[in-house]
Amino acid sequence: MSKQYNVIVVGGGPAGSATAIGCASAGKKVLLLEKGQRNRNKPCGGVLPLVAPETIDDIVGESIPKDVRIEPTELGLYYVPPSGRKNSGRVKNYTIHNIERASLDQWLRDLAGDAGVDVKYNSQCIDIQKDNEFKVKIDSSEGITHASAQYLVGADGVRSTVRKHLFPEIETPLMIVGQEHWKATGDFEDCFYGFFKREISISYAYLIPKADSLILGLGAEPHQSPNVSQLLGKFRNWLEREFSFSPTQLLKKETWSIPFGYFAPGEGNALLVGDAAGLCNPLSGEGIRLAVESAEAATTAILTANGESEPARIYAKDIHGLVDMISELNEFVRTVDDEGRERFVKDELLRRI
Ligand SMILES: Cc1cc2nc3c(=O)[nH]c(=O)nc-3n(C[C@H](O)[C@H](O)[C@H](O)COP(=O)(O)OP(=O)(O)OC[C@H]3O[C@@H](n4cnc5c(N)ncnc54)[C@H](O)[C@@H]3O)c2cc1C
Repeated sequence: MSKQYNVIVVGGGPAGSATAIGCASAGKKVLLLEKGQRNRNKPCGGVLPLVAPETIDDIVGESIPKDVRIEPTELGLYYVPPSGRKNSGRVKNYTIHNIERASLDQWLRDLAGDAGVDVKYNSQCIDIQKDNEFKVKIDSSEGITHASAQYLVGADGVRSTVRKHLFPEIETPLMIVGQEHWKATGDFEDCFYGFFKREISISYAYLIPKADSLILGLGAEPHQSPNVSQLLGKFRNWLEREFSFSPTQLLKKETWSIPFGYFAPGEGNALLVGDAAGLCNPLSGEGIRLAVESAEAATTAILTANGESEPARIYAKDIHGLVDMISELNEFVRTVDDEGRERFVKDELLRRI
C-alpha cells in the first residue's frame, strides 16, 4: 500500500529541508526522504557568505544556533591571485560564517520535523512512477515501501536520482572537488582564503581554518591531468613557499562534486532544487545559500500553483536571476586566463562592499 502525501521531498540536505519546512508550514502533508542517517556528513568547506544566515533565517524562521557554528566563527575573505602572496589581501568589509556542516543539516531536518514533516532516515528513493501523481519506491530498514504525492521535489544533490529518473536526457557536467583536513601551521589570518592560480585549479582553490585544523580544497574537471589528488599536492607545495604552510597530520581526505554548467528546474509538478537543479557557484563552490533560495522559490511555486497550474514554470521564472549569475560565472571559469584572474583579484581588493 502507498502512503499518501501532498509533497514528497527526496533528499534531506539544506535544499530539501528548507522546501519541506516551507510546504509543511503552509499546511501541506510532506514526506522528507533522506538516504543517510541522522548527522550524516556531506563533504563541504562549511562556510557561508555574509548574507546566508539572514537568508536562512528568513526562509526557515529561525537563526542558526551557536552549536552549529565552529571556531573561528567569523572569518575575513582573503584573495590570492595567480602571482601569489605579494599581490594578495583581504576583501574589505566582508565576513564569512564558519559552520559545522553535519550540524547545520541536522538542525534543518529537526526544524522540518518540528514543522510537521514526516522525516525518514536511512530511506532511499530508488524508483519513481509517474501517473496522475508520483509514486516513489523507498528502500529502508522497513524493507521496500511506497509513497505517493501530487508534487515531487528532487533535492537529492548533484547526482540526483530524481533527475536521472524523470529527466534522463539532461546532460549534467560536474566539477570534482577534493578536500583535505590537516593539522598544520602557516602564516594565515582568520580568513577564508580563495586562490585563483589556474595551474592549481581551473576554478578555485581554498583554505579554511576550522577549529584546530585547516581545510584545503580545490576544483578540477573529471579526468583532468594532473588529477585532483596531484593538484592538491601541488597546492600544498605552493602554500609552503608562499605562506610557510607546514602540515603535520592528515586528518581526513574527501572528494565529491558540484554542478558545472547545467540547469534543470524540473517540469510540471516535479521540481529540482539546489545541486540537483545545477545551482552552485563554480568560482567559489558556494551552494548552501543557493540551495535554500531555490527551496524558497520551489515552495512558493507549489503553493501558488495549488493544484491548478504547473509549479515548474513559476519556479523556473523565479530563479532565472540565479541561473544567469551561475552561467556568467561558468563562462568566467572556463575562459579567463591568469591575466584575467589577476585583474579580477585586483578589482575585488579595491572594491568596498
Ligand atoms: C568539497 C565541497 C566543499 C563545499 N563547500 C561549500 C561551502 O563551504 N559552502 C557552501 O555554501 N557550499 C559548499 N559546497 C557546495 C554545497 O555543499 C552544495 O551546494 C549543497 O550541499 C547543496 O545542497 P543540496 O541540499 O542541494 O544537496 P546536498 O547537500 O547534497 O543534499 C542532498 C541530500 O540528498 C540525499 N540523497 C541523495 N540521493 C538520495 C536518494 N535517492 N534518496 C534519499 N536521499 C537521497 C543525500 O544523502 C543528501 O543528504 C561544497 C561542495 C563540495 C563538494
